Amino acid sequence: MEKYRALVLFGAPGSGKGTQGKFLSKVTNHLHISSGEILRDLPRDSELGKLFHGYMDKGELGPDDMMIEVFKEYIENLVSKGKYDPENQLLMLDGIPRTVPQVKLLEALVEVEKVVFFDVGSKEALMERISKRAAIEGRADDTSMSILEERMNVFEGKTLKVMGAYPKEKLITINAAQGPLFVLKDVLNHLTPLLAR
Ligand code: AMP
Repeated sequence: MEKYRALVLFGAPGSGKGTQGKFLSKVTNHLHISSGEILRDLPRDSELGKLFHGYMDKGELGPDDMMIEVFKEYIENLVSKGKYDPENQLLMLDGIPRTVPQVKLLEALVEVEKVVFFDVGSKEALMERISKRAAIEGRADDTSMSILEERMNVFEGKTLKVMGAYPKEKLITINAAQGPLFVLKDVLNHLTPLLAR
């Protein structure tokens, strides 16, 4: 099987990777895939939905192998519906991989070309952004301070290690403490050759 070609949009909750993924999917031919959105859309009364919503409600990560399986089926479904053309489109992965075991499991499916790290710097700035997002989107896991703390701990404890699992040449660090348009400008400075293909 040919592997899916992808960029990994990497950063803490609130780093703006989702915003940038959405921008980029509008102005390029490529596909923004948010694992959090995939999971939030799982019906709560399904087996899988019950399981993943349980983890999301606590701010914890769902099981690695099941996450990769859900992702695989989601992508295969897009391909079969003609909504994703792996020959010509890159996947812009937002929220996945989130652990080193997920990096390894994804290797069988996905060829990661670049990892874009949205670096906000301070935890306080992240928390402030998320509370603004909470007011707009009303996500339960953004609104509760204890869940938010847990998500930050998970990021620092498990997810940050993902960066070390990729070769340094693939890593692009962006100053994501700037406003979204300046972040976009920096992303485009680095990625236009790849995205314009
Ligand atoms: P996000 O919208 O990316 O912040 O994700 C929301 C929640 O979905 C996370 O707190 C996790 O509970 C779950 N989640 C999203 N992506 C993953 C992943 N790659 N592995 C495990 N759990 C995930």
